[in-house]
Amino acid sequence: MTVTGRFAPSPTGELHLGNLRTALASWLSARAAGGRWIIRMEDVDTARCRAALGDAQLRDLAALGLESDAPVLWQSRRGGAYRVALEALHRAGRLYPCVCTRKDLATLASAPHAEDGLRPYPGTCRARPLPFLRPDALRCRLPEGPVAWEDLGLGPQVDDPAALTGDPLLHRRDGCYAYHLAVVVDDGAQGVTEVVRGQDLRSVTATHLRLQEALGLPRPRYAHLGLVTAPDGSRLGKRDGALGLARLQHRGLPVAAILGWLGWSLGCLDRPEPATAADLAGRFRWDRVPRGPVAVPADWV
Ligand code: GLU
Repeated sequence: MTVTGRFAPSPTGELHLGNLRTALASWLSARAAGGRWIIRMEDVDTARCRAALGDAQLRDLAALGLESDAPVLWQSRRGGAYRVALEALHRAGRLYPCVCTRKDLATLASAPHAEDGLRPYPGTCRARPLPFLRPDALRCRLPEGPVAWEDLGLGPQVDDPAALTGDPLLHRRDGCYAYHLAVVVDDGAQGVTEVVRGQDLRSVTATHLRLQEALGLPRPRYAHLGLVTAPDGSRLGKRDGALGLARLQHRGLPVAAILGWLGWSLGCLDRPEPATAADLAGRFRWDRVPRGPVAVPADWV
């Protein structure tokens, strides 16, 4: 089977070093398997996304030598496909309208889950009937129980979506389709076999696996990468700026030095030395990628 990898940024800002590392890892992994690699712009949330930011992200990726093997898919143009998927879930009796407000959800008694402070949806509206698809907020009823997957980056994983996300929101009251629906539909439509993304999204993977089952879509392989942190190991904060390509280049770092550090941080090089993406291709192996976070060099922030 031909491997198809993808990088799927949201055009809400500049790509930072962590995003660039994820992009490079997904490209290297696909290339190491002789596969193809595509870029998808996840701009379903039209209030937060800007086309110009997406174009800038594509330019940064191209500067690293990472170009999509197929035309870039923009999710804001995919409403028809998401609607079809929602209708299929509706026919299967899986959708229900949710009238909970943000405030209702914020005051729930359940504990926020560790990774991103989100609380799982407790199913308050689960029994509500859905006579027809109105512009409601819509959730998908997920079956109970844990889901397992073999993570290329982290090894064997087991999660219970009910404890992490609860029934996911697939359509928002403002008319936007939600990330959980769009990501699963598009990975399926684009024939993606390998999803490489940051560890901050590990906690939603079991939910995505359940949605793939519900929609009859094949399950891609997943790899979750450790985050890039500040030199002292703390989360990169505002004071560290976006740590994007433009800023690093402005500080006098050539693209080859940035790629060399990224390649080293992914286990392709023994030390950070100037490289091109093509130099790193062929040296990439998942068993050499560190599982934990990686700190940015002190003189880069
Ligand atoms: N668009 C998501 C983000 O930028 C990533 C989605 C994914 O890789 O599944 O955080």
